[in-house]
Amino acid sequence: VLPDRLRALTHLLARLPGVGEKTAQRYVLFLAGEEGALATDLGRELSALAEAVRPCERCRNLAEVDDLGHAICAICKDNRRDSALLCVVARVQDLLAVERSGAMRGRYFVLGRLLSPLDGVGPDELPLAMLAARIQQDGVKEVIVATPPSVDGEATALLLAQELAPLGVRVSRIASGVPHGGDLEFSDQITLGRAISGRRSVDVPR
Ligand SMILES: [Zn+2]
Repeated sequence: VLPDRLRALTHLLARLPGVGEKTAQRYVLFLAGEEGALATDLGRELSALAEAVRPCERCRNLAEVDDLGHAICAICKDNRRDSALLCVVARVQDLLAVERSGAMRGRYFVLGRLLSPLDGVGPDELPLAMLAARIQQDGVKEVIVATPPSVDGEATALLLAQELAPLGVRVSRIASGVPHGGDLEFSDQITLGRAISGRRSVDVPR
């Protein structure tokens, strides 16, 4: 009964995380009804998104593209950050969670995914060369691995400890406290702050 265009838009919106068909349809009816101005604003912002925002060239956090076509995020640009400390996270959401805890005075590196042998994600799928280059360029002394406390999160921490050992950098892992299998995104700021200050070195098995 809905016009094709609205049905197509409903299907697109339903692909967003946490949005089912019913919610998507509610949004579409809202936008097509009285909220025409909102639809126009949303359309403009969404079409500019892919060109205006890209992963940061230095850490893969999201960054706005500047006039010269470069994308450097606000954290990488911030001179007050401690260059010797680098916090490695799986996703941008995790970076935001650690940042909210206020316990990280260094910078970040976003892997994009975790090592997951069962799902066919091996070391080659992770941006390890980019991470190593970043560590050497910035003179990083300690890498804090803030991956979630899951099998994949632990495997990733161990891989990083092994791969980064030749660079002479200390690799530490956030302490437990974040519940096992839990998501960094949903742990409270105090728990996450404690997990960061209570971090321990990752021992590479010989
Ligand atoms: Zn950055």
